[in-house]
Amino acid sequence: MHRGAHTLAAEATELYEGSRSKVARFIGAEPEQLVFTRGATTAINYIAYGWGLNHLKEGDKILVTIMEHHANLVPWQLISRYTGAELVYLELNDDLTVDTSTLDQVLTDDVAIVAFSGMSNVTGALGPIDVLAEAARSVGAISVLDGAQLVPHTPVDVADLGVDFLAFSAHKMLGPTGIGALWGKPERLEEMEPTEGGGEMINTVERNESTWAPVPHKFEAGTPPIAEAIGFGAAVDYLDAVGMDTIAAHEREITAYTLDRLSEIPDLTIYGPRDVTLRGSAVSFELGDVHPHDIATILDQDGIAVRAGHHCARPLMKYLKIPATARASFYLYNVPEEVDALVESLYKARKLFGLT
Ligand code: PLP
Repeated sequence: MHRGAHTLAAEATELYEGSRSKVARFIGAEPEQLVFTRGATTAINYIAYGWGLNHLKEGDKILVTIMEHHANLVPWQLISRYTGAELVYLELNDDLTVDTSTLDQVLTDDVAIVAFSGMSNVTGALGPIDVLAEAARSVGAISVLDGAQLVPHTPVDVADLGVDFLAFSAHKMLGPTGIGALWGKPERLEEMEPTEGGGEMINTVERNESTWAPVPHKFEAGTPPIAEAIGFGAAVDYLDAVGMDTIAAHEREITAYTLDRLSEIPDLTIYGPRDVTLRGSAVSFELGDVHPHDIATILDQDGIAVRAGHHCARPLMKYLKIPATARASFYLYNVPEEVDALVESLYKARKLFGLT
């Protein structure tokens, strides 16, 4: 890689750095603003430890929403332990979008970080990105956008988002597992300390101290996931070729169809906005009092893959007063016939569990 002088190493470096350029371009960024990470989780942890540890102090607040994935909660809880900062929450409207009407109460000068999701992996609700990015700016806080569910499904340009950091994962956008990205505004990345030390991320190393390589390399210690990063580049090439506008339009259509069809089913509760302009394609539901795991098992017998459980969002489940949901999610490859099959299978489940 970057160290090697021979042809194969130079080729690997070129492909790896070429992939960085592709992924950066995909979100409207410059390559030097994009750090490869193990995924969205690692990206958020880098921000928490690399920025939070050096900037947060006792009494500071980290503003999050109740719909966050654990990946955008637990790192902040961990960093709170070290710094004495405290988490404060925005809750939800009746349609399960984020309730920003309480911002006035929670947005104090003590808020140092506003961390929120672009789209809930449970309810599909889109996050109020503009409002929360502006709220963060208004009190001198930084904003962290969990884009794990946003970047795969909609065109994203970091120049329009107005946030300081963005995290996302390749495996949710047709890429390999074990790779994702952290984008940051240049000045924010400069403010961040590396959270991992080792080879590749240094400039000089003496017996007792070292200096760092320039951003983004100072955050990429050790041998990087070269193959995975190159795969990530191939995935964004494919998504670019299909077109993110086309993908977003397709998902909106299939989500609207799903919401319509699921609404026909007696005893079925949908958890999430009905308005497709307020949501993405993750559709959570419950069928009567049948446990979502049982639903998932019945659907699986018909070859239909849904996810059942708390979806790594336990505080949200508690807020909704439910233990779990079943969740269907759609992407560019899904077709309406699959929605029909889901509905048919759910009718079968109703019969099986004696819901008449
Ligand atoms: N944020 C959201 C909204 C997610 O749905 C996920 C994954 O399910 C993550 C963060 C974490 O992503 P990863 O496990 O790829 O790091």
